[in-house]
Amino acid sequence: MFFWKILEKRNENVFVEKTDSIDSKKQNKKSYKKAGVFATVLTALALTVTGCSSPEAGGIEQSLADYQTQNQSQADAQTAFYDANVDGTMTVRFLDVGQGNSVLVECDGRYMLIDGGDYDYSSYVVAYLKNQGVETLDYMVVSHYDSDHLSGCVGALRAFDVEMVICPDYEGDTKTYYTFADDLEQYAVDYVHPEVGDVYEFASAEFTVVCPEECDYSDENDNSVGIRLTFGSNSFLVCGDAGEESEEDMVESGVYLQSDVYMAGHHGSAGSSTYDFLQKVQPEAVVISAGFDNSYGHPAKATMNRLKNTGADIYRTDLQGELIAVCDGTDITWNVEPSNDFRCGEDVVADGSVTKPSSSTTFDGNTGTSAQSGKITYILNTNSEKIHLLTCGSVADIDAANKKQVTATITELETQGYSPCKRCLD
Ligand SMILES: [Zn+2]
Ligand SMILES: [Zn+2]
Repeated sequence: MFFWKILEKRNENVFVEKTDSIDSKKQNKKSYKKAGVFATVLTALALTVTGCSSPEAGGIEQSLADYQTQNQSQADAQTAFYDANVDGTMTVRFLDVGQGNSVLVECDGRYMLIDGGDYDYSSYVVAYLKNQGVETLDYMVVSHYDSDHLSGCVGALRAFDVEMVICPDYEGDTKTYYTFADDLEQYAVDYVHPEVGDVYEFASAEFTVVCPEECDYSDENDNSVGIRLTFGSNSFLVCGDAGEESEEDMVESGVYLQSDVYMAGHHGSAGSSTYDFLQKVQPEAVVISAGFDNSYGHPAKATMNRLKNTGADIYRTDLQGELIAVCDGTDITWNVEPSNDFRCGEDVVADGSVTKPSSSTTFDGNTGTSAQSGKITYILNTNSEKIHLLTCGSVADIDAANKKQVTATITELETQGYSPCKRCLD
């Protein structure tokens, strides 16, 4: 049957392509049925667009409009379906990794990591995930290969079983990128370069790839893989450092963008979160992940003004530290009140009265060092003077009198004479 042929072919394209020597059987065994179906519908529609397009522009526009309408109604139908079918919660954690991005998503006890922060935060991100009880990541989405997104992913690849890496189809030219590429080979991790419209199941949530349309943009940030993640009627849009050109392509392609929560592209830089794009996203809440007093001045004044015009609540890691959104399929509950501080990064710093939250850190983009890495909750054995993660097997054996819970950085604890446990913090 024609339809199923496309489906099979599409599945091959999406999941076998470019996996070369690595084991692609595991991918096929997993339940990507829905991915196939949705991707197929999009393919079929794309064919319609091409097939029906007469030489006149009118024909193309008409087909594209149909495509967008159907795309929209598909998304609505999908939302309606999940409204009635999700239980439990999905938790989205925007980690405080200074000037960088790292998002951990948990749903039904399964985990997905979207970016991992910069080099200085790599061990923090790994420790954070371990504290959350992560052993396996169903997905690791590497938006692009800039170190403020990639470094922590390399750390996590080495620390956890990763079922599938989703990353863009271009090559970086940094040491971190080569390490990443080597690790993919060495650990035989399945990876895929996704196409716009691909849909992946993630526990009772799912996500659709919304960008990049291509991978040879003049600005590598535009090659960022972006996803729209949905759980029931709750939705999140996370597009790495995608900027103007990629946003324009998303708007033109008609891919469905409307989302409850939008993670501002490129840390709130002036070249992202363009007016037309925001019109499509219509966020209710915006998260900005940027370092307090970062050398780029993120988030930019122009961006903050555009975001303010959307009427969305603003949450910012530079002022509020870690941000956690708990979704029940209908409502989204946050760990903090929105900051709704629409000042740009520079204005916030100029106002000396603003104090950053205790979990926040100062990252100096010029020297590449951070004043301190992120704080995390540890268990101390005051007798052996060892530092443990909450999930370390040794914790159960510590005598209650010698057990102490603290939230600090490893460095702080080391100055007090403690040393990291070899079992959990190696
Ligand atoms: Zn970045
Ligand atoms: Zn970047």
